[in-house]
Amino acid sequence: MAKDFLKGAKDHYDVVVIGSGLAGMTSANVLARQGRSVLLLEQHYQLGGMATWFKRRNKHIFDISLHGFPHGMVKSCRKYWTKDIADSIIQLKGIRFENPQFSVRTTFDRENFSQILEERFGVSKETIQRFFDTARSMNFFDDQAKTTGELFEEFFPGRDDIIRFLMEPITYANGSTLEDPAITYGIVFSNFMHKGVFTFEGGTDVLVSKMKDELEKNGVDLRIRTLVEKIEITDGKVTGVVVNGRRIGCGALISNANVKSTVLNLVGEDKFEKEFVEEAKAVRLNNSSCQVYLALKPGESFPDQGDLLFHSEHTGFDIDAMLSRNISSRTFSFYYPKTRPGHDRYVVVSSTNANYEDWKNLSEEEYKAAKEEMIESTIDCLEKYVPGVREQLDHVEASTPRTFEFYTRHLNGASFGTKFEGLEVSKKLPEQIGGLYHAGSVGIIMSGWLGAVNYGVIVSNEVDKYLTPSPVNA
Ligand SMILES: Cc1cc2nc3c(=O)[nH]c(=O)nc-3n(C[C@H](O)[C@H](O)[C@H](O)COP(=O)(O)OP(=O)(O)OC[C@H]3O[C@@H](n4cnc5c(N)ncnc54)[C@H](O)[C@@H]3O)c2cc1C
Repeated sequence: MAKDFLKGAKDHYDVVVIGSGLAGMTSANVLARQGRSVLLLEQHYQLGGMATWFKRRNKHIFDISLHGFPHGMVKSCRKYWTKDIADSIIQLKGIRFENPQFSVRTTFDRENFSQILEERFGVSKETIQRFFDTARSMNFFDDQAKTTGELFEEFFPGRDDIIRFLMEPITYANGSTLEDPAITYGIVFSNFMHKGVFTFEGGTDVLVSKMKDELEKNGVDLRIRTLVEKIEITDGKVTGVVVNGRRIGCGALISNANVKSTVLNLVGEDKFEKEFVEEAKAVRLNNSSCQVYLALKPGESFPDQGDLLFHSEHTGFDIDAMLSRNISSRTFSFYYPKTRPGHDRYVVVSSTNANYEDWKNLSEEEYKAAKEEMIESTIDCLEKYVPGVREQLDHVEASTPRTFEFYTRHLNGASFGTKFEGLEVSKKLPEQIGGLYHAGSVGIIMSGWLGAVNYGVIVSNEVDKYLTPSPVNA
């Protein structure tokens, strides 16, 4: 008989959270600490969503999305998770750019970027200061008509080398482009510039296991391999979910699944106002990713290559080239034994932004060949930095937008949720249906590790308010 992954689950919880991405887990943790009974349902066999890892023969461990996040994660983890988690967050100081226009190494903070902009790119101190101050002062309520491209044109007209320096890492971090609202750039860029790029020492597996312990300590009922099929709505309010064929009731629900699939599939169009459905349908998904995972044989190593290397072969910032299956841009993340204390392996993960469309219709044969080609060209490219690495390799494999779609159920394998307009739809959900919330990657600002955690906190506070009877009604 099939195992019952809901064995012992109650028939009703204050809150059901669908999905254990960083936003979903954080919401669950905050609400459980506030004394709510919380059920966290995850369709995959491990927690974490995109914050994930996998293990292979010979004790190799690969992190999928642990490449770098802003310092703000320390404060968020200390406040909403544990001091222990916050204390394991360390800075990555070796960020490199290698492209036909420049070769630069940076600590990726305001001081060092200012110096490079002045000395390497010849920008005046005054312009640099004004640019940083403008980006820093941007907030969510600003004019959203100005695009990132227009922002750059205002400060660095005609300088595609500077645009690439300022923009390429952010595009890798959240899929944003020059056509997106400037605030999405300004907020994310300033978050990084505040203190630099950070990572979790120990790897994603350790982080998620610590989060799991904390969730359990706070009484969250965690269930893996539980696919939510439907969100139940009664008289305009959320009343439960159907999961693995069973109905479970709830007072409020947070969906950490993609906002479009939450509205259009899990709830269903007929439960919303027509205009809202149109708005949700119009939300554009963000791009997806490809990755190549390369592990060196036990005992093999490479000299210091920095932590993150933005490699590109084309000139200027070119989003189409960055997304193309004909890869000319890659971000290499280098993992050393120090990344995972106690583990002696050297690993490289190569990440590329990618279009789902380029991969979805390939036959199985074409798909296999395309992955093989991607692996080969990635090793060739890595050889430029680590000569002889091909002979040192023990394990190599690749993932594509199809892989991300399969494991997370994100439409089109979107790595960073939706474009900016998704945030509006996400925020308006509870106005449409009482007790229905979404916390997860939307709108660039609310995606990435820090954005997801912070959005989880914001939404859990909204849920708490919804579940707390007002004094008049109590
Ligand atoms: C290749 C790659 C590299 C990245 N690099 C970085 C980086 O360097 N820095 C950074 O900050 N961010 C990075 N990110 C982005 C970051 O990982 C994500 O933005 C963040 O982890 C998303 O968290 P989330 O809470 O939105 O949910 P997700 O991680 O998207 O999780 C959603 C969860 O919901 C579950 N789910 C969906 N539907 C159902 C259902 N019906 N029933 C049950 N469960 C369901 C899924 O299985 C999944 O576990 C990267 C992402 C990718 C793919």
